[in-house]
Amino acid sequence: MGYLGSQSHSQLKKEIGHRKVVLFPFPLQGHTNSMLQLASILHSQGFEISIVHTQYNSPNPRNFPHFTFNSFPDGLVETEHPSESDLLAFIMRLNFSCVVPFRECLQKVLCDDSEDHITCLITDNVWYFSQAVADEFKIPRIVLRCTSISSISAFSAFSSLREKGFLPMKDSELDEAVLEVPPLKMKDLPVVHTKSPGDLPQILVHLDRETRASSGLICNSSEELEGTKLAESRKAIPIPIFVIGPFHKYCPASASSLLVQDMSSISWLNKQRPKSVIYVSLGSIASIDKAKFLEIAWGLANSGQPFLWVVRPGSICGSDWLEHLPKAFLEMLDGRGHIVKWAPQQEVLAHPAIGGFWTHCGWNSTLESICEGVPMICMPSFGDQKVNARYVSDFWRVGLHLEDKLERGEIERAIRRLMVDPEGKAIRDRAVSLKDKVDQCFKEGGSSYSYLDSFTGYLSSL
Ligand code: UDP
Repeated sequence: MGYLGSQSHSQLKKEIGHRKVVLFPFPLQGHTNSMLQLASILHSQGFEISIVHTQYNSPNPRNFPHFTFNSFPDGLVETEHPSESDLLAFIMRLNFSCVVPFRECLQKVLCDDSEDHITCLITDNVWYFSQAVADEFKIPRIVLRCTSISSISAFSAFSSLREKGFLPMKDSELDEAVLEVPPLKMKDLPVVHTKSPGDLPQILVHLDRETRASSGLICNSSEELEGTKLAESRKAIPIPIFVIGPFHKYCPASASSLLVQDMSSISWLNKQRPKSVIYVSLGSIASIDKAKFLEIAWGLANSGQPFLWVVRPGSICGSDWLEHLPKAFLEMLDGRGHIVKWAPQQEVLAHPAIGGFWTHCGWNSTLESICEGVPMICMPSFGDQKVNARYVSDFWRVGLHLEDKLERGEIERAIRRLMVDPEGKAIRDRAVSLKDKVDQCFKEGGSSYSYLDSFTGYLSSL
């Protein structure tokens, strides 16, 4: 485990007393990764860890032998899955159906006769119902935001934009700058697809109110990346804020992977030249239609670069996996392309053969790429991905944004520009400089190092 002190858990436990933290992850891949990484960080600081989780997408306890796991029935039926087309319905559904079983499960954890004192409950901010339960049991609740700090500001701007008549967005205004949240354009606002448009303002009110009512906010980011937005958030949200990320630098996401990672990704990468491979992955929820899938395939093939492509089963509308690809596609490439269902992404991005990452700009993927100095091609789909993509292309300037129609010629040009052409050199250089800058935040005196110190002190004082 990198960046953490050398004292053992039992030594640290003696120093802070017998203190236990209960953590409650939201059952989506990116959210589960962040919460379990945070749990590992706190364990390394001497805290005992208890995870309370839904049966749906439950983490694997074998990968975390030092934690206690407590699952409860979430009320989902087998056919209910989160989908890009209505993520809000999934969030609202769970915030309703989990109230009673979560309360019962937490009560059991609190009544546990162990000698550890329960310091606080840490929940994903998406679990807005949990503040009322924490209040009922009189334990402090701390909120984890798994998104960028910039997207917190963007979500906060919604109500003022609505009042000023800018929402719903008009096609003619999509390229207009949003003065409230530079450098965003109207089309970057983190709209989440839903069948009931009234849901988003309702959820945003819940999330905002219950975060303000909590005892603190933890962000998986760093001052070095989002210092300006952090200063704004501090003014807007009057609770203690601790920015101790990127979390994955302390401990890997592989232990909390909900899908089996195909290790052939690494053996294939071992055979490729340094910085020659474009890695393509759209994360755990985004989906695309057949036409886009084929444009991506031909764009990759025509680019001439080797590619490692994650095609998650079910992520191509109307197919199980690769049925839409022409039969001879991979044979024709003669080993230049490798397709897997799920990859060990952190290891992949750290591999010397990787020269670029074509990503949907989920916040974990964005951080993982930044921390390896890998430049990006951004293809955001929904929610905070659009905010992250704008930051990658226009603020940190470590990537290119595929903003126009997804077309094979454009893709081929973008890949070559990012990875080989001299005009992309400045982007590649900036990606390395940004990595070096973020590396500093974990060193003694660095921002995340200091925040972790103050966060541990804060938890011990609760
Ligand atoms: N991931 C992985 N293998 C893959 C694709 C993704 O392990 O093939 C991991 C990735 O490292 C990241 C997480 O899944 O930690 C995805 O989170 P992110 O916030 O980027 O996107 P989301 O899936 O939430 O849209």
